[in-house]
Amino acid sequence: MKFKEIIGQEEIKQRLIRTIKDNRVSHAQLFSGPEGSGKLALAIAYAQYINCRNKLNNDSCGVCPSCIKYEKLIHPDLHFIYPVATTKEITKKPLSKNFIKNWRNILIKNEYYLNLNEWYEEIGIEKKQAIINTDDCSEIIRTLNYKTYEAEYKVMIIWMVEKLFHSAAPKILKILEEPPEKTLFILISENQDQIISTILSRTQLIKIPKIKNEDLLNKMELSGYDAKNIITQANGNYKEALRLINQTDEEKFNYNNFTKWMRLCFKNKISDIIDFISEISLLSRERHKSFFLYSLRIIRESLLINNNCNSLVKLNNEETAFIKKFYPYVNSANGIQLTEELNKALFHTERNANSKILFMDLSLKIHKLLQLK
Ligand SMILES: [Zn+2]
Repeated sequence: MKFKEIIGQEEIKQRLIRTIKDNRVSHAQLFSGPEGSGKLALAIAYAQYINCRNKLNNDSCGVCPSCIKYEKLIHPDLHFIYPVATTKEITKKPLSKNFIKNWRNILIKNEYYLNLNEWYEEIGIEKKQAIINTDDCSEIIRTLNYKTYEAEYKVMIIWMVEKLFHSAAPKILKILEEPPEKTLFILISENQDQIISTILSRTQLIKIPKIKNEDLLNKMELSGYDAKNIITQANGNYKEALRLINQTDEEKFNYNNFTKWMRLCFKNKISDIIDFISEISLLSRERHKSFFLYSLRIIRESLLINNNCNSLVKLNNEETAFIKKFYPYVNSANGIQLTEELNKALFHTERNANSKILFMDLSLKIHKLLQLK
């Protein structure tokens, strides 16, 4: 990871680079900042720069033997500790190194921006609490007492150090205070006030701010109304910006398909309905659920308008234009039944119903219901 691949954070990058140029790299540093700010990416880029054999003025070279291994996260002097728990495969004494493949995988896939939920999902422990355990603390000491293989600095990155198990903390206090020569600890945290105080007091704090709006905007390559909205809502959190974009894409997709579907149902031209169904049935069950939930929302909003409750209606511009023509067809004669049929579809989708049959049946019912006045 090179510094230039990280979104914004110019001041922090310059500050970190300065410590290397001035030869005053503190041996235990705490990168503390909100989710989606790039703490982990900065830590890895910093470690890569320290060990680069051919440092450029403001970044690592990316092509020296050290950088090449760093880019793949396989450098023998780069170590990671993170919260873990027992899983289906690792049924006792889980250690960070048991999950290193998952770790490399998800970091590279997510451009080094990772949150706890994504990590838990990656290792299949969504319903458990993961911790940095005592055995992993022993691992830290064992690993660092070996001499470096090939790097200038041995680097130990401890991700989400607030998850360090309380009774495990004393184990690493000594090595944090007096690490072997040329060892760099980078601790990473989102909740500084949850870090055990004896650990906190042994580190130098580097506060990582949230990403500036303009930097996030550049990264996301967005424009127009959506862009401003998403960037404001994301509040400097890259993960949140990505989530909002996906959501927006899904909503647009749902809107386009719902409006098309309603027109087809209304006209009741079977061959067109079949074409529509063969396309939409290819989507995943989750997307079908999302589509039915969206349909239910538009039916509900139409009913509200029909009942003169406009102040409760929440629609974007496109939806408003559509619903102006659509709402007269959703009324007291069919509103409840339309809702019931869509809810049934949702229920059967969750239970793996055949989506083609389900959509066909529902399309015919909707056609009949839309005729009711
Ligand atoms: Zn290099």
